[in-house]
Amino acid sequence: MKYDIIFVGGGQASVFGAYEAITKEPSKKILIVDKGRMLRQRVCPKEKTDECVKCPTCAIIYGVSGAGAFSDSKFNMDYRVGGDVHTVTGKQIVNETISYVAGIYKEFGFDETPVGLTYNEKMEEIKRKCIENNVQLVDTPTMHLGTDGSRELYTKIVDVLLEKGVEFSTGADIEDLIVEDNAVKGVVVSKNGEMESYSSDNVVMGVGRSGAKKMMKLCKKHNIAYKAGAIDLGVRVEVPDVVMKDINKNFYEAKMVYYTEKYKDKMRTFCSNPSGFIAVEKHSDDVILANGHAYKNKKSTNTNLALLCTKTFTEPFDQPFEYATAIARMSSMLTSGKILMQSYGDLKAGRRSTEERLSRLNIIPTTEDYVAGDIALACPKRILDNIIEFIEVHDKVTPGFASSDLLLYFPEIKFRSTRVIIDKNMETSIKGLYSVGDSSGYGSGLNIAAVMGILAARNIVG
Ligand SMILES: Cc1cc2nc3c(=O)[nH]c(=O)nc-3n(C[C@H](O)[C@H](O)[C@H](O)COP(=O)(O)OP(=O)(O)OC[C@H]3O[C@@H](n4cnc5c(N)ncnc54)[C@H](O)[C@@H]3O)c2cc1C
Repeated sequence: MKYDIIFVGGGQASVFGAYEAITKEPSKKILIVDKGRMLRQRVCPKEKTDECVKCPTCAIIYGVSGAGAFSDSKFNMDYRVGGDVHTVTGKQIVNETISYVAGIYKEFGFDETPVGLTYNEKMEEIKRKCIENNVQLVDTPTMHLGTDGSRELYTKIVDVLLEKGVEFSTGADIEDLIVEDNAVKGVVVSKNGEMESYSSDNVVMGVGRSGAKKMMKLCKKHNIAYKAGAIDLGVRVEVPDVVMKDINKNFYEAKMVYYTEKYKDKMRTFCSNPSGFIAVEKHSDDVILANGHAYKNKKSTNTNLALLCTKTFTEPFDQPFEYATAIARMSSMLTSGKILMQSYGDLKAGRRSTEERLSRLNIIPTTEDYVAGDIALACPKRILDNIIEFIEVHDKVTPGFASSDLLLYFPEIKFRSTRVIIDKNMETSIKGLYSVGDSSGYGSGLNIAAVMGILAARNIVG
């Protein structure tokens, strides 16, 4: 079967890419291939059993509409957040396309007013404290749909794609690319235990963080130009809402960047979820990662956010992905396949957390998918030192942050270690092969994934 465009991975980048292509050129024959299920069938058994039953293909991570389906859907309206594709395309086109995507959200009934557009006195005070403590506050306007709103939006978009004739092949794991004379000719997938191939002269690879390893494998096999990228490694912390009240109320999310005194490494806050919930990402039986989300209509009394260290390795080391995976495995070895959790008080006291010690705190964890233990047994010293330094600095901006009531869930990792070489149309060194979203190494958020998918689609449909 020959298609005009095949999108591999049905996440944010592909959904918006396919929407752009089919809207501009309704006659195009488009296929979206995804390892997971269709959005409506993406049901996590944990919703009923309250415990992860370790499905072979995790419905939270894999499936049509990607990581965005279960994300908090904070949509950042600025090129500085969510990736750095502007280093390839320039800033203006990224910002213009972000506004264009916000317009599509609006078409589907999501017309949120972004927060963070103007500063009140409280915000000025927070900014001043950041300046005093060498913290960069990346204050960009943000729309927030919530996990429930986000699912509703994607359900509507996917329904429109189906109506317009876009085809989906789900349960289909990309095995290989068909490349002839340095031009892409199609893809090979494994589906229900059999190999199937689909032809096309235009293949858009957007397999997200969950498919980043596969992307790297394909780059190596087909000599697709790439370079080793950075790895983001750290913890997801959970803190009582009252501590974060001023930031949550005024910014919803305050993105902070800090370079540590000790190692000069870059630390940043990421994906803050006021009144949110801790989420568990199961990449495989022994790679279990912490994450977080927040609903629009269901609230906890805790805020969670990631504290991540961006680590770029120097020669001769070129396996950041394997390095981060080994750390995740070490953590999972200590917990028999759960996330590792420790209170900041216990971490500083050099002792493991226990349920009994946790019960003395003011905070109740929003997940039960953890084992209380000692993060120092699994986290490299340099990363842990950076995390501790960042927590102490955060405390100066947000008094109460560095208390014993801060819970640390380990590990949170953003796998985007391959940076595929692309041009301003997202095309790789292989003709007709495009690389978009998180798995390209340029994206880490919904805004940039959608922008990249759209830019690739525009180039293909002209
Ligand atoms: C819990 C959580 C909360 C988040 N919250 C936010 C937020 O509030 N704001 C924000 O901007 N970003 C957020 N993010 C990040 C955001 O979701 C991603 O940056 C975005 O979804 C990336 O889009 P993508 O299309 O590149 O990849 P994804 O959306 O991850 O989609 C990748 C797709 O590829 C498929 N796939 C993977 N491997 C294969 C394979 N081998 N074969 C075939 N298909 C494959 C997957 O099933 C998936 O559908 C969050 C992420 C998570 C996990």
